[in-house]
Amino acid sequence: MAKTYYDQDVNWSVLEGKTVAIIGYGSQGHAHALNLKESGVNVVVGLYAGSKSKAKAEAHGLKVATVAEAVKQADITMVLIPDEKQADVYKEEIGPNLKKGSALAFAHGFNIHFKQIVPPEGVDVFMVAPKGPGHLVRRTFTEGSGVPAVFAVEKDETGKCFEIALAYARGVGSTRSGVLQTTFRDETEEDLFGEQCVLMGGVCQLMQTGFEVLVEAGYPPEMAYFECFHEMKLIVDLCYEGGMTKMRQSCSDTAEYGDYMIGPRIITEETKKEMKKVLKEIQDGTFARNWLLENRAAGRANFLAQRRLHKEHQIEQVGAQLRNMMPWLRDKKELEF
Ligand code: NAD
Ligand code: MG
Ligand code: MG
Ligand code: MG
Ligand code: MG
Repeated sequence: MAKTYYDQDVNWSVLEGKTVAIIGYGSQGHAHALNLKESGVNVVVGLYAGSKSKAKAEAHGLKVATVAEAVKQADITMVLIPDEKQADVYKEEIGPNLKKGSALAFAHGFNIHFKQIVPPEGVDVFMVAPKGPGHLVRRTFTEGSGVPAVFAVEKDETGKCFEIALAYARGVGSTRSGVLQTTFRDETEEDLFGEQCVLMGGVCQLMQTGFEVLVEAGYPPEMAYFECFHEMKLIVDLCYEGGMTKMRQSCSDTAEYGDYMIGPRIITEETKKEMKKVLKEIQDGTFARNWLLENRAAGRANFLAQRRLHKEHQIEQVGAQLRNMMPWLRDKKELEF
């Protein structure tokens, strides 16, 4: 089991009088910046000229500067821009302005692990990665709790990096629930595997395929949407609260029998073999290379076409209509940051 750290394990004084630059004001950025500020840390948000987020961050009471200016002031620079953009912004604006003895921080290990960013000597490198989207990091903090996180120390040049990482995790609220120590390598590989095979790649493909089978067999798309998509949340919520045991207790015995008998015919030994192959391609850098080439050499041609095709799928059209019948979802259409 990984060791877990809580509020009482934190030496908060390592952050006293320190300035944290939060680069980017998206999902994670807005949550880290606001939580740290309310924890008493001096925060400056670094944004590119003309960023739409500038007005938003200022309205939230935060100082805003260019990325270069924010980094120059910072004792800790947390990089919260999209992973595929980080290397370029680092090269132009972050790297040249990093103070010796300061720390460079990330919420995902991708760029450090795959050597897209190579920080200079004399700069600490750590990660604090909340295990949840930014709006949850923010909301739980305002409610007095926090989203659990993993943290890692990649390079400890000052002898203080471990304590700084833990204090940062407290500042965003995560040590209220517990933070686990990991490494950049493990976090990167596990995160990519989870989103590709289970959370997004696996789950989305499963829901869509089930929907297609029912529709192609002549069932109404609305019913197919309810069975294969809408009800997913109810099942996942029960699992989240009390494991698969609670979920199965809540469902009928007929459903539970089908779960045991049919599940292994859908996710087969073949699927497991393929997951292992996917993991290997994450570990050996094949996936990272493809994603970086897609961004740099291909101008995201394939990615953007895929995004359009998936948006046009019937399940998305039917879903949008049906969700209009659910008034309690009306406020939730837009992301909250
Ligand atoms: P995001 O896409 O929500 O936000 C990125 C922000 O960066 C936007 O505000 C954008 O305007 C800004 N930005 C883009 N280009 C910029 C530039 N050149 N200079 C300055 N700012 C720029 O990103 P996110 O999902 O918050 O991800 C940030 C990091 O957090 C990533 O490393 C990601 O892997 C990690 N992470 C995300 C989540 C999540 O649930 N979203 C969870 C854990 C870790
Ligand atoms: Mg996104
Ligand atoms: Mg990820
Ligand atoms: Mg049913
Ligand atoms: Mg039951």
